[in-house]
Amino acid sequence: MTAQPPASLFIDGRPVEGEGAALPVRYPYTGAEIARLHEASAAQVAAACRAAAAAQPAWAALAPAERGRVLARAAAIIRDRNADLSRLETLDTGKPIQETLVADWESGAAALDFFGGLAAGVTGQMIPLGRDWAYTRREPLGVCAGIGAWNYPSQIACWKAAPALVMGNAMVFKPSEETPLGALKLAEILIEAGLPAGVFNVVQGRAEVGAALISDRHVAKVSLTGSVPTGRRVYAAAAEGMRHVTMELGGKSPLIVFDDASLEDAVGAAMLANFYSSGQICSNGTRVFVQDGIRDRFLARLAERVRQVKIGDPLDPETQHGPIVSPAQADRIRAMIAAGQAEGARLLCGGPGAGAFVPPTVFVDATDAMSIARDEIFGPVMTTLVFHDEDEVVTRANATGFGLAAGVFTQDLTRAHRVVARLEAGTCWINAYNLTPVEMPFGGVKMSGIGRENGAAAIEHYSQIKSVYVGMGGVDAPY
Ligand code: NAD
Repeated sequence: MTAQPPASLFIDGRPVEGEGAALPVRYPYTGAEIARLHEASAAQVAAACRAAAAAQPAWAALAPAERGRVLARAAAIIRDRNADLSRLETLDTGKPIQETLVADWESGAAALDFFGGLAAGVTGQMIPLGRDWAYTRREPLGVCAGIGAWNYPSQIACWKAAPALVMGNAMVFKPSEETPLGALKLAEILIEAGLPAGVFNVVQGRAEVGAALISDRHVAKVSLTGSVPTGRRVYAAAAEGMRHVTMELGGKSPLIVFDDASLEDAVGAAMLANFYSSGQICSNGTRVFVQDGIRDRFLARLAERVRQVKIGDPLDPETQHGPIVSPAQADRIRAMIAAGQAEGARLLCGGPGAGAFVPPTVFVDATDAMSIARDEIFGPVMTTLVFHDEDEVVTRANATGFGLAAGVFTQDLTRAHRVVARLEAGTCWINAYNLTPVEMPFGGVKMSGIGRENGAAAIEHYSQIKSVYVGMGGVDAPY
C-alpha cells in the first residue's frame, strides 16, 4: 500500500520536493510506511510566501464571482473523487472509511461551495455625511498562513482555504506533520479548477517549519488549528508582526443531560460526542453531566451500546472505531486513563486497549477535580459526572479554562435556551452534538480560541475594511 505524492511540497503551482528532514507517513492501522516526504527548508518556506505574495494581487483583482466559480469547480472535482480521496484520508489518519466518506472531503467541498457562492454578495457600506460621504471597501489581507492539526487534515485545509481565497487572499498551508497528504491533493485540485499558480501553496514540516512560516515578512494572517499550548506560541509570534489571527484550539466541553431528555438520543449523542474519529475531535463533549434522576438508566444503556461498537480495520466499511493516529498519541491517552483510575474513577467500559487501538472508554464515579475531567485527552475517553440541579451544573460546566463547545439535552424548551445562554462556549448544541454545518460559525471562547471559521462570520476574519472619506466641496481649513 503506497500513497506517495508526486512531491512533498506544492509551490507556485507545481509539486516541489522538500529539501529538509525526512517525514515518514505511516498508516496508523498497520504502522506501515505509506509515503516518505521531506520538510520544507527555510528557503523553500520563503519561496512559497514569495510566490503567494506575487500571485495575490492579480487574484484579488478578479471579480469575486469569478473567484467563487473556481472554488465551486474545486468542490465538484472533490465530490467526483470522494471515494479515492476518502481512502487516502483513511490511510493518512486511520479514521474509518465509514467516516471519511461522509465527513472529511465532503465537508471540505461544502466549504468551497458555500464561500464560493457567498463571495459575490460581500459588499461595503455607504455612509451619508451630509454634503460629504464615506464608503467602505472590504479588502483582502494579503498572504495568509494556514496551519493544521491531524484529526481532520483535509477538512481543515478546505475550511481555511475557502474563505481566504474567495476574499482575494493567497495562502501558504502547512498541514500537521502526522497527516501531510490531503493538503497536497487540495493544491492539485484547485489548480485543476482554475486557481492561478501561487495562490495556494503547501509546505510540510514540524513545529520549526510552522514557526518560520508565521514569521515570514509576507504573512499578514495566521490561522491555526491545534492545541492550546501551540496556540499560545503561535499567537505570540504573530503579535510580533501585528498579524491577524484565527485560533481554533482544544476543549473539554460539557454535555448536559437533564432527567427529561430522550434517553436514546442523549446516549447516542454522548457516544458521537466522544467516540467519533476515535475521540480525536476538538469539540468533543468529554464531560458528560448526567442528572441524578436519569443517571442509572443512562449509564446502563450507554454501556450496552458502547459494547456493540465495531472496532477494527478502518478500510472495512463496517468498522465504526479505528486506531489512534500514532503510537505516541495512544500512549498519551493510556496515561490519562491510568491517571483517572489512580485518582479513584471507575471504568464502566473500555480501558487502555492495546497497540494502535484504544476502545471506547467510559469513566464513572469521577469528580470535577480529577485530571480526566479537567484536561483534554483527545482520545475516546468519556468522563460521566452526576449533577442535581440546573444552577449547579451551569457553574460546574463553566469551571474550566476552555470554552470551545457545549451541549444540552432536555425536552424543556425554555430550560434549553436558558442554559445555553449561560454556558461559556463558542458553539452550542441543543438536543444534538458535534454537527458543524459550514453555514454555522464555529469556534471557541476563553482559551479555546479567537475568531470563527465557517458561516458568513469567517469572511470578516479573512478581510479588512478600508474606509474612504469623499469630500464633495471645498476644504474648510482654519489656517
Ligand atoms: P498541535 O498543537 O500539536 O499542532 C498543530 C499544528 O501546529 C501542527 O501543524 C504543528 O506542526 C504546528 N505547530 C506546532 N508548534 C508550532 C509552532 N511553534 N509554530 C507554528 N506551528 C506549530 O496539535 P495537534 O496535536 O496536531 O492537534 C490536536 C489539537 O488540535 C487538540 O488540542 C485539538 O483540540 C485541537 N483541534 C482544534 C480544532 C478546532 O477547530 N478548535 C480542530 C481540530 C483540532
